[in-house]
Amino acid sequence: MSSTARLMDGSALARRIVGQAAERAADLTRQTGRAPCLATVLVGEDPASVTYVRMKRARCEKAGIRSRHVELPAATTTAELVGTIAALSQDPDVHGILLQHPVGPHIDERAAFEAIAPEKDVDGVTFHSFAAMSFGLDGFASCTPGGILRLLDHYEVDLTGKHAVVVGRSAILGKPVGMLLLGRNATVTYCHSRTTDLASITREADVLIAAVGRPRFLHGEHIKPGAVVIDAGYNPGNVGDVDFESASARASLLTPVPGGVGPMTIAVLLTQTVDAAARQLGVA
Ligand code: NAP
Repeated sequence: MSSTARLMDGSALARRIVGQAAERAADLTRQTGRAPCLATVLVGEDPASVTYVRMKRARCEKAGIRSRHVELPAATTTAELVGTIAALSQDPDVHGILLQHPVGPHIDERAAFEAIAPEKDVDGVTFHSFAAMSFGLDGFASCTPGGILRLLDHYEVDLTGKHAVVVGRSAILGKPVGMLLLGRNATVTYCHSRTTDLASITREADVLIAAVGRPRFLHGEHIKPGAVVIDAGYNPGNVGDVDFESASARASLLTPVPGGVGPMTIAVLLTQTVDAAARQLGVA
């Protein structure tokens, strides 16, 4: 008899988390006379990036977080972008900075990220944030990994001693989510494009994180029966990195796409923006 995975409802959980962030933002505004402010920086006009930034700003506004939007032309140089971000880092009216990724190939993205002051790195993209997170110290988590951990916690997935397999090793998603899982005492294996016999490794996973960027890449046969499967993928047409039907027949818990990891990412961004503002305004 085949069973069906229980869905992990990221939309519902994100609504609650955003509601809490909004309450804290309102309190902070009442106490200090200043609302938390997120600066969003967009280079060029990539349609997906334009949409993501618009969505993030709209969510900020609904939660009582101001946003300051900086739009730069696609031809912006690394030095110009670094200068813009360094100025935002110095600006006391800005509490968090989000540089929409990816920037053009002619720009040194790492140099631009490193211009974000650590206390304003609410998207968790700097070396400082990655190191702090990996060492289990205070710092901002990369938002999608942070959202994944909150989902796992909400569904009471005990990570201690579990084998977690992360498929993907990008700086913003695969690597940091592995570090957070390690910090929770999971035994972590990373897979990537050079991994041989991927299925034999993923089938060992108690917790499987798909962060590949390939539509429906992982199927039921990649999944150990009863595993918890997190699909962080978001491909054109609202399609994840996991084949939902076949995965659902094997997994015990599964995130849908859309409505799983995606909304959690924004919820963590808003929460961390309020955290940053509270600290900078001396109320934390
Ligand atoms: P990325 O930078 O392109 O990284 C993809 C990773 O997958 C790389 O580490 C790559 O390995 C690995 N990979 C590619 N082909 C593979 C294969 N055949 N077998 C095993 N591994 C393979 O992508 P990303 O930025 O991490 O994003 C991954 C997915 O998450 C995308 O669908 C993206 O849209 C989504 N995402 C969603 C959110 C959200 O808020 N929901 C946020 C960020 C990203 P190599 O390192 O060897 O190249």
